Amino acid sequence: MKNFDVIVIGSGPGGYIAAIKASQLGYQTAIVEKYPTLGGTCLNVGCIPSKALLDSSEHFYNASNRFEQHGIRISKPEVDFAQMIARKAKVVEDNCRGVEMLMKKNKITVFRGVGCFLDPNHIQVKANENMETLNGTNIIIATGSKPSNLPGVSIDKIRIITSTEVLSLSEIPQNLLLIGGGVIGMELGTVYARLGSKVRVIEYTDTLIGTFDRALGRELLKISRKLGMEFYLSHKVQSVEYSNIDRVRVSALAPNGQEVQFEGDYCLVAVGRRPYTEGLQLENAGISTDERGFIPVDENCRTAMPHIWAIGDVVRGPMLAHKAEEEAVAVAERIAGQKPHIHYHLIPNVVYTWPEVASVGYSEEQLKNQNTSYRVGQFPFMASGRARASMDTEGFVKVLAHSDTDEILGVHIIGPRAADLIAEAALAMEFRAAAEDIARICHAHPTFSEALKEASLAASGLGSLNF
Ligand code: FAD
Repeated sequence: MKNFDVIVIGSGPGGYIAAIKASQLGYQTAIVEKYPTLGGTCLNVGCIPSKALLDSSEHFYNASNRFEQHGIRISKPEVDFAQMIARKAKVVEDNCRGVEMLMKKNKITVFRGVGCFLDPNHIQVKANENMETLNGTNIIIATGSKPSNLPGVSIDKIRIITSTEVLSLSEIPQNLLLIGGGVIGMELGTVYARLGSKVRVIEYTDTLIGTFDRALGRELLKISRKLGMEFYLSHKVQSVEYSNIDRVRVSALAPNGQEVQFEGDYCLVAVGRRPYTEGLQLENAGISTDERGFIPVDENCRTAMPHIWAIGDVVRGPMLAHKAEEEAVAVAERIAGQKPHIHYHLIPNVVYTWPEVASVGYSEEQLKNQNTSYRVGQFPFMASGRARASMDTEGFVKVLAHSDTDEILGVHIIGPRAADLIAEAALAMEFRAAAEDIARICHAHPTFSEALKEASLAASGLGSLNF
């Protein structure tokens, strides 16, 4: 039996960051991963491969549709899809190898196999015939999540697929049926729409990216329609089945109660993710999951057992890599007796379409629900010199500030480089800045960030200077 101060189960962004931080704080640390590669969902089948394909498809789209306006003539570009997927695989491989190196550098012992609790302090690692037992003073569960499914739908991973399979297809779908207009669905649908697939999005609610301020969903809908994507909002999927060996049929109830049928060559089910604890044998540790499958934790990510912690997608809160990482660092520091704090409502959320969508803080709907009085300042990218120069004039920045104190309560952006712009808003809000604070900070010209300054000018009541 091997003894460790900290055992981490799962090597996604929650697990590997927790292991690194624990080791840096002087703890003898082990990490257990059931897959051959480290990095979890994020590196293998999530953030990184999806962004690799988003980037490749964006290059293709721009070369096909926008170069000419910039005065660049090229012969009609073609997609080498096998190369696109191979490049994505290489990006994933390099990133996973990077985590492997970080484990070595930080002297973390890696165990490959499924980790399960024998009792509250002992973890058994099962890899084929080999078994190893580890004793941990502290244990951090970071086993992540898996794609959710709809009741009665059987995902065969061939033509009825999840986000995992759609990242490694061998052909571009001609006719992709996409169930779910959330973040993951919109990103992956965008990839294939740019590559020429006919993409039809069937969404249960009446909006896209429903976790965001509704103004962003409305704008994304308009923009994505221009890309040729079709949307069927407020449609409830009833069944997904094969209509032929290579054809899939989705039946859905339209808002008027009529049944509508869609046929395609692939159906991507992107209806969210569920926490993953299979095989962990939590009961041996005296821990049970809640009714939705999450491991219950307190505000410090401590489970019912004081020395067992849980972080990332397997616990409450947004299922985001950077949220998992913040919890990872915080838990390692708490083990060391420190008292870190995470502002959960200041975790930015991003959709990597183009234009990108990014948000931090409260949405307008949330402020209305909690009866907070607020002012809105909005600035369209159409009025930005930088955006006109790059032909990225779609979208806007919306700043919500408290009516009395001017404190920034939420920032919602759809526009070029929104994913990067949101960092300034998150920083300002961590320091509880007023809209006037951002408005009076000198922003370089011409930059997309001037749009945040202008929206802050408007929200603070000083008045936008360029719109
Ligand atoms: P995971 O990354 O899921 O890692 C859990 C690990 O635990 C896995 O490697 C698993 O094999 C291992 N494991 C599970 N059980 C055991 C066991 N019993 N023993 C040993 N090992 C075990 N988030 C963002 O912030 N930005 C994005 O752009 C983004 N894009 C995404 C795109 C897609 C297509 C998907 C699917 C997700 C995306 N996400 C994104 C979400 C992000 O990937 C997750 O929030 C993040 O990976 C969660 O990290 P985690 O460490 O909690 O779990």
